[in-house]
Amino acid sequence: MNIQPDLALERTRRRRKEPDVALGATAIPSQVAVSFEFFPPKDPRQETSFWTAATCLRRWNPTFMSVTYGAGGSTRGATGDLVVTLQQRLGVAGAAHLTSIGARRDEVDAVADAYWATGIRHIVALRGDPPRGVAARYTPRRDGYPFADALVAGLKRRHDFEISVAAYPEVHPQAASAAADLDHLKRKIDAGASRAITQFCFDPAAMERFLDRASAAGISVPIVPGILPISNFTRLAAFAEACGARIPLDLHTQCEGIDTEPERRDRFAVAFAIAQCRALQKLGIRQFHFYTLNRADLVEGICAGIGADTEQARRMHI
Ligand SMILES: Cc1cc2nc3c(=O)[nH]c(=O)nc-3n(C[C@H](O)[C@H](O)[C@H](O)COP(=O)(O)OP(=O)(O)OC[C@H]3O[C@@H](n4cnc5c(N)ncnc54)[C@H](O)[C@@H]3O)c2cc1C
Repeated sequence: MNIQPDLALERTRRRRKEPDVALGATAIPSQVAVSFEFFPPKDPRQETSFWTAATCLRRWNPTFMSVTYGAGGSTRGATGDLVVTLQQRLGVAGAAHLTSIGARRDEVDAVADAYWATGIRHIVALRGDPPRGVAARYTPRRDGYPFADALVAGLKRRHDFEISVAAYPEVHPQAASAAADLDHLKRKIDAGASRAITQFCFDPAAMERFLDRASAAGISVPIVPGILPISNFTRLAAFAEACGARIPLDLHTQCEGIDTEPERRDRFAVAFAIAQCRALQKLGIRQFHFYTLNRADLVEGICAGIGADTEQARRMHI
């Protein structure tokens, strides 16, 4: 493994000096807690990126670092191993994602037992997507956990995990209605989840409406916005369409042709996400979950811009 955290940190320091990402005179004072999501690397080069990113981001004192679970359990072993190594090597709280789709209940339970036995105490519990994608028809298997609420209940019955679940400010694409989707979120909380992490959402007004509706529905656990930096706009736009997240028209306009200019795109991605987080901070949000895509540079720039000061985050104990 070729880990080069110092080089990556230096790159980030240089980036922070770039004028286009300047914070302006109205930087919002801090008290922000952050968490970081990674995906399991597939080859040695990705493994280096993973550890470089995780090592850099460690200094933002995250509430937790999570590792995703490949569709249909394809990364089952890797996810758990990485979370355990993150905990041991970096001294951070780890969270392992776990999806139930396509698996029998006893198979999922065995993964959960293995997580618990190796010291994992936080699970991001998800149903997962059908192999052909979220748009494909989903038929629950009779011997499995049909939806994430059942998975949360099953996990809680086995061990006293801390559980986070997914939430959809712009409604999950398979939901019968926004009201039904919110009702399902409520069931996941009632089953034992203590945090909801949202799908990325580029429209703070949509997030505000969602938070209001969640509050009116009696959801009182933290709802933590998932922030996805624009690391490749073309891919992001295609992904957003598949998962029901709207890309505002002006973002489309601003990102026209931006993928051919990676440096401009990186500066834009940081400045855009800072503005997005600041709009959410004005709604009272103090916790953000970053989809890092195993890259530290963009997320570090954003953390610096929103005042995710390591000291202040530590004092919050969130
Ligand atoms: C923060 C976050 C992390 C993620 N991590 C991963 C990951 O690691 N691996 C991965 O493969 N995917 C991941 N995903 C994607 C996720 O698996 C998909 O969005 C999936 O389509 C839904 O999962 P869920 O847990 O939200 O499902 P659920 O909460 O079960 O909801 C799925 C759909 O079914 C509906 N529904 C729920 N309960 C019922 C019910 N009882 N009856 C009828 N309809 C119901 C809901 O309204 C919704 O439309 C993640 C998503 C987010 C937001």
